[in-house]
Amino acid sequence: LERTFSIIKPDATARNLTGAVNAVIEKAGLRIVAQKRIQMTRAQAEEFYGVHRERPFFGELVDFMISAPVVVQVLEGDNAIARYREVMGATNPENAAEGTIRKLYAKSVGENSVHGSDAPETAKVEIAQFFAGNEIV
Ligand code: ATP
Ligand code: MG
Repeated sequence: LERTFSIIKPDATARNLTGAVNAVIEKAGLRIVAQKRIQMTRAQAEEFYGVHRERPFFGELVDFMISAPVVVQVLEGDNAIARYREVMGATNPENAAEGTIRKLYAKSVGENSVHGSDAPETAKVEIAQFFAGNEIV
């Protein structure tokens, strides 16, 4: 069993899609073992997407992530990291497969409804940024 970190992004929470996204997650066999709705601070968003600091879209990305509340989650399941990336679909919704969260709900490459960790090391760091061990059950 593996854990991954997920964010339901501002474009999705603003459109009342938290439940719809969670339905796709649960149907895919992933278990939501921690979840909370938070307003990210600019500092938190900059730390979270720090790897993209030099990219041209960084400022826009941080502004977007703090534009409305997000739902941060820990998902658990077999191969949860790769499985969730599959369920999310491609970064750009135009390239996302049918039935994926981004195909169903994302508005654009920037406002793409969800985040999921891309590797075991990043999953560990990202989970620890937002959850204490005893919040994951
Ligand atoms: P995430 O890390 O959010 O799960 P990802 O791993 O599919 O997404 P990354 O390459 O890590 O994609 O990009 C991080 C985020 O930055 C994307 O989800 C998207 O919100 C934003 N982003 C990526 N590329 C662009 C772009 N060309 N223009 C605007 N925003 C972008
Ligand atoms: Mg990424």
